[in-house]
Amino acid sequence: MVKRAAWFLVWCALVAGLAHLYLLPAPESAASRLDGAVALTVLTRAGPVSMTAAQWLPGALAAEMPASFESEALKAQAVAARTYAMSAHRHTEADLCILNGGCCVAYKDEAALRALWDTDYEKNMAAIEAAILATDGQYLIYEGEAIQAVFHASSAGSTEESAAIWSPAPYLVSVPTPETPENTPGLVTTVRFTPGELAEALGISPEGDPAAWLGEAVLDGAGRVAYISIGGQRFTGGEIRGALGLRSTAFTATWDGDRFVFTVSGHGHGVGMSQYGAQAYAAMGWGYEAILAHYYPGTTLTSLSSR
Ligand SMILES: [Zn+2]
Repeated sequence: MVKRAAWFLVWCALVAGLAHLYLLPAPESAASRLDGAVALTVLTRAGPVSMTAAQWLPGALAAEMPASFESEALKAQAVAARTYAMSAHRHTEADLCILNGGCCVAYKDEAALRALWDTDYEKNMAAIEAAILATDGQYLIYEGEAIQAVFHASSAGSTEESAAIWSPAPYLVSVPTPETPENTPGLVTTVRFTPGELAEALGISPEGDPAAWLGEAVLDGAGRVAYISIGGQRFTGGEIRGALGLRSTAFTATWDGDRFVFTVSGHGHGVGMSQYGAQAYAAMGWGYEAILAHYYPGTTLTSLSSR
């Protein structure tokens, strides 16, 4: 029995060791002097591992934004991701996770990126690393503290205020954003439901003419759905988004005589920097500092070198 337990421990150590090796990203560049000095505890499927910000950032930036985006958009995203890591807080046993469960910042390790990018790996990683090195050690603060640098894929017209979803933050307010269907693929999406499908998804059993099911939506300060009554029951925009799998809470709902039609703008929670918005501003010639100042108003870009 003791022998079997001992072998089990050896096996566990081996698996943990292999997983650890597999998950470790490429060695950091000698040029990432400041990021290389930031120690992070990163929660992986094999448990917490130690990484520097320089080791974590490439896999995070590559997973969060297409490498083909404008260099100034990539720099803005690098700063936002670095800032997120410095203020992360969702786990007791680690600074942040790379579990890709929609919890912390997305992450792809080298093996995943090689599979994804194939022959473009070297070119794409060069763009990712250039954005990180150009912003080495830079992060955003508000009143001296690293901010909650949340971001999302796209919004139409304006971003969402943090207060509508989480707690208010003075720098997470609704600001204009330049996405259009021309510069943002899938900016507007349409989803249709039969009355039966809608009732099942929402767990309601209304009777009568479906044309009368939809109440008027109550919009929040950013023009997204705060509340809507469907089939006599009141839902938050977030509840509808979750139950129906909508891309955002910026939606309108109509009945076309046959199905309910949900027309949805943008993708994600809508708070903080819009990634496609950053890309559009970069294409207009904005630098990453201006992009960050726009999406996180009132914050200051600082550097670890000034600590
Ligand atoms: Zn997490």
